[in-house]
Amino acid sequence: MFVDSRDLTAHTILESDVCIIGAGAAGIALAREFIGTSTQVIVLESGGFGYDQRTQSLYYGENTGLPSFPVHLNRVRYFGGTTNHWAGHCRPLDPIDFEKKDWMPHSGWPITKAALDPYYVKAQPILELGEYQYENLQLFEDKTGLAGLNLDAKRLKTAVYNQSPPTRFGQVYRDELDKAPNIKVCLYANALELVANESASRVDAVRVACIDGPRFAVQSKYIVLAAGGMESARILLLSRHPSPRGLGNDNDLVGRYFMDHVLLRPGVDISFTKIGINLELYHSLHSVAGGNMFAVLAAPEELLRREQLANFRIHLVPSGPKYDRPMGGVFADVDGHEGENPIVKTRDNSIAMHMVLEPHPNAESRVYLSTTRDLFNQEKLNVKWLLTTAELSNAYRTLELVALEFGRMGLGRGYGAIFKDKTKWPGNLEAGKHHSGTTRMTDSPKTGVVDPNCRVFDVDNLYIAGGSIFPTIGYANPMPTIVALALRLADHIKGRIS
Ligand SMILES: Cc1cc2nc3c(=O)[nH]c(=O)nc-3n(C[C@H](O)[C@H](O)[C@H](O)COP(=O)(O)OP(=O)(O)OC[C@H]3O[C@@H](n4cnc5c(N)ncnc54)[C@H](O)[C@@H]3O)c2cc1C
Repeated sequence: MFVDSRDLTAHTILESDVCIIGAGAAGIALAREFIGTSTQVIVLESGGFGYDQRTQSLYYGENTGLPSFPVHLNRVRYFGGTTNHWAGHCRPLDPIDFEKKDWMPHSGWPITKAALDPYYVKAQPILELGEYQYENLQLFEDKTGLAGLNLDAKRLKTAVYNQSPPTRFGQVYRDELDKAPNIKVCLYANALELVANESASRVDAVRVACIDGPRFAVQSKYIVLAAGGMESARILLLSRHPSPRGLGNDNDLVGRYFMDHVLLRPGVDISFTKIGINLELYHSLHSVAGGNMFAVLAAPEELLRREQLANFRIHLVPSGPKYDRPMGGVFADVDGHEGENPIVKTRDNSIAMHMVLEPHPNAESRVYLSTTRDLFNQEKLNVKWLLTTAELSNAYRTLELVALEFGRMGLGRGYGAIFKDKTKWPGNLEAGKHHSGTTRMTDSPKTGVVDPNCRVFDVDNLYIAGGSIFPTIGYANPMPTIVALALRLADHIKGRIS
């Protein structure tokens, strides 16, 4: 059922078995798992059923990192959360993404992909996707009658993506949450703070406020923060009783290791030396195995290990109208020679390569409390998204490899701003809108914020769901992993309740 929290009496104390803070993808996927059980669940959602400027303003903050990071634009604060906005690209992480990699400090999940596999499969229908078919390129080629590029398997591969409609969780799952007698979704309910016991080993209550309404509290056996990749960290930092540095923050790790995908659109353009190359498999959607799919270029594990690279994917996007451009950015042709720098007339027959690159975990890239305050007089968030030379050299080498492979196949030549100056980011650097890492999962409180069960270290009844718990993010968009982790967390909590 839905409750308008503005109608509650001030200082009410609501009680439940489980309290979920945030009704985005993670919060709704988790709450649904308790439908039909006797577990009483309260979901606290900051917004209502639609966009409201004052509620959204609670996401405003400051940017002290790279200029290309819009602090409040890429998250949405009402029922359904950022799924009201997302694009629907889906793919699970690769097995190598879970590994500790010598060439990437602070990498390594404390769980393997195998632990998530059953939950990835279960996430498919929740995201309104077809069969769980990510590795079967042959099926994709057979069903579409299209062929992938003839890539050298040691250098590049074709990877399959699934396309969600995209599922708007707030619309698709609204009715079933409304009808569930054991689920109470409190709208307009802003969790301000988690109040812990004196030893900070349990959360005793969640303090909640409405913008135009009462303040109240929720007491639950289990609390799950599902407020998004940056906001879950902010709530911990704002929860200062009895830990002045914030709950779960004894080792100053909450908010650190903030990551987002590195986007260059384009990273490189390929101007074809052949005509009539069919790249339909990559740049159109195809209906296969009960869902929609498209393909990207990605890295074989062997390449990542050999070159010690971060993971990446490349979207092939047809170029717009013809345009002329200086050849200073020419990087590689079939022979690997650089061009002279004349102005060249490009052909219709070219394609833009949009690169999505995994960042390295970096403690200095972080979110932290600002000195400015929001409507509730709480400190806003300061976002310091940083990249290092590791990402820059990864981007350069990745695009170099792609250009060389197109040269090797005899298909075309690569042009890109990064090839003109590999010491600085091109002006089109963007963040991927995939906020992650601020409450990372590890196997020790010395290196992370949550344990392999998503529980905040040393706080017995506090869990986190969402991208903030990813210790590394591979190249895949995060939604399937966010939902899979939420489903796995539901099983864990059910196990503790029974
Ligand atoms: C334009 C865009 C395109 C994207 N495309 C893709 C894509 O193609 N594929 C993909 O995998 N991902 C994509 N993403 C990312 C994806 O949408 C997010 O990673 C995902 O929605 C995060 O889910 P979440 O449940 O963790 O957080 P959110 O969806 O952000 O939900 C958090 C919820 O918590 C609520 N909340 C926040 N603070 C409080 C509080 N104090 N009290 C109570 N409630 C609170 C919010 O109102 C919100 O409902 C995209 C994102 C954007 C912006």
